[in-house]
Amino acid sequence: MGVSVSVTGGGFVDDAAVAAVELDKAGQLDVAAIDKIVRDGARLRDYPRDLAAKYEEAREQTFYNEYVFLFVLGCVVSFATIAVDILVDPYLAREGVILRLLTTTPVTVIGLYAGARRWTTVMKIALGAGAVTFMGVLAHMALHLPAADAARYLLATATVVAIANITLPFSLRGQAIFNSAAIALTFAVVAWGGTAVLQQHFRDLAVLVIVAFATLPIAARVERLRRLNFLLNLRTNLVGLELVEANNSLRHLSETDALTGVANRRSFEARYQNEIAREGQAFDLSAIEGKNIGLMMIDLDHFKPFNDMHGHQAGDVCLQMVARSLEQVCDARGAIFARYGGEEFIAAIRADTADQIVALAEEARASVSSTLTRDCNQGRALITASIGVAIAPASAFFPREELIEMADAALYSGKNAGRNRVEVVEAMPFAPSAAAFEAER
Ligand code: GH3
Ligand code: MG
Ligand code: MG
Repeated sequence: MGVSVSVTGGGFVDDAAVAAVELDKAGQLDVAAIDKIVRDGARLRDYPRDLAAKYEEAREQTFYNEYVFLFVLGCVVSFATIAVDILVDPYLAREGVILRLLTTTPVTVIGLYAGARRWTTVMKIALGAGAVTFMGVLAHMALHLPAADAARYLLATATVVAIANITLPFSLRGQAIFNSAAIALTFAVVAWGGTAVLQQHFRDLAVLVIVAFATLPIAARVERLRRLNFLLNLRTNLVGLELVEANNSLRHLSETDALTGVANRRSFEARYQNEIAREGQAFDLSAIEGKNIGLMMIDLDHFKPFNDMHGHQAGDVCLQMVARSLEQVCDARGAIFARYGGEEFIAAIRADTADQIVALAEEARASVSSTLTRDCNQGRALITASIGVAIAPASAFFPREELIEMADAALYSGKNAGRNRVEVVEAMPFAPSAAAFEAER
């Protein structure tokens, strides 16, 4: 679409931006479509397959950005609780460390390795298994503790399950599987102690089950907010792109003549300043030293009678043809060109010699007179132009208005001398030379 947008910020925002640009390239998405998805509850499954895929991609990317953090957090929590074990029962704490090293640690190592290799499924399973094995360790410790401490340890498993449900990057189904595995292992470990133990801790285990499934809707809500965030990022980026495009087309409109499609007077003035006179910017004096500026006013001859005879519509078409033809000539010579108004055009060039400027004016005149001759009027030109040219040394820094006035005067003497001709006036530089100008600066 010819527009590039750079977005800074966290991984999720960047990915949404990329997704917006890519999807919009395929013409699949616009702001109205996104608004509808948001109104309908931010579900992605009913919408262009690409959108859901992009979301998954962005989600996966965020996950990769976070997975080291999640594993490290898990390890820190797992080992920080050893301090609690020591306070509760120093002998049992040793067993706890060994159990962690045998279960949680290898799972973590596998998960980190899988993450580095981008084995997403293995990594997700390892993350879940890390939490589940940690819960198993807590349940095992509970078996060997007095009732009050045991209850605390079993309730801690409920906390682990709740945190895991909210932070782990599982789908709802994945989360249900994770919860079931976590509950099954905790039950199994407690049941290992016998039916009496199981009965004794039944209330704590019931809390675990309730917490595990009560946090599922919260996880679903978090997931919905993530989708909403993704969609709103997309929307912001699309609105940004639309603004950039609207701005570009407005700028184009403001610089273009509506009838002929060539540059208008306003854009000519800006380009003259920047490209011919080099006034507005820091410039290299050597680029203008020894050069000449040529400014020409081009006026179609007897255009009113042409209009009267062929009609205004034909006059418009004629103006379009002449404008295109003049534009081509000027482009080829590196001159700037515009429709000045009515049946008048303007061009300007910076050239080494006055002869080059006169040659351009002559070429422009010839191009007009050859525009409307073919196949009619026995090869004679139907339309011609008179051109007044003002030439001045670039280093004299003549104001543009003054050059226009001189070119206008030349144009009218051309009209008086019979039309379809180029009339040249060379400006005498009373202005300071470039060296003097430089000295003044
Ligand atoms: P001269 O050789 O002295 O320049 O004669 P002229 O008839 O070209 O000059 P004059 O200024 O009397 O007339 C210019 C005409 O240009 C009058 C107007 O109808 C025509 N014209 C100006 N703008 C447009 C336009 O956008 N479309 C059409 N069809 N004609 C236009
Ligand atoms: Mg005129
Ligand atoms: Mg005219």
